[in-house]
Amino acid sequence: MKEECLICKAPLEYLKEDVEMECAVCHKKENSKTRCANGHYVCSECHTKGMDSIIGVCLNEQSKNPVEIIEKMMEMPFCHMHGPEHHVMVGAALLTAYHNAGGEVDLNQALPEIYRRGKEVPGGAWGLCNLMTSRALGAIGSNGGPRCCKRDSYLAIMEAVKFTEEKIGVKMELGDIKCTRSEQNNQCLHKACPFHGGK
Ligand SMILES: [Zn+2]
Ligand SMILES: [Zn+2]
Repeated sequence: MKEECLICKAPLEYLKEDVEMECAVCHKKENSKTRCANGHYVCSECHTKGMDSIIGVCLNEQSKNPVEIIEKMMEMPFCHMHGPEHHVMVGAALLTAYHNAGGEVDLNQALPEIYRRGKEVPGGAWGLCNLMTSRALGAIGSNGGPRCCKRDSYLAIMEAVKFTEEKIGVKMELGDIKCTRSEQNNQCLHKACPFHGGK
């Protein structure tokens, strides 16, 4: 692992003694000896949840395709088959693709914001627009259960890509979506899932 800040790429510095630091993601304060040269610190809870990895992926990404971006996150060790991290991942992948497609957003500010808003807004993802949320939930609901965090992430992303083009005129990309994780999901709908790619 490279010893550099995932947020700004600056080198890390190691202090001799604990200093109170503020997490760049959730703003929690705790004592630590490690931060980057620009003062970024990520608390242990955010680190465990993969928040720094998510932000690292996004800030280094050129893709306009949010599914391509979220697939990279799904491959990372912090990501479970199902779990609340998907709320943040969907929002982060969308914002990043939106940015790369020419949408105006400051990722350095917006990415940590998703995490904080995700705690307040039901459904988490993006957290900005109730209309968008209702569309995503509509798509997820009409596909039936049992819930699958992968299927629901893909459905939310598809709705958001359509919505953004319609309402804001920014065109993200969306290729064919094929799920590769059916085997890891005991409740997989198999052929009844729109993204089922396997046998
Ligand atoms: Zn930094
Ligand atoms: Zn934190």
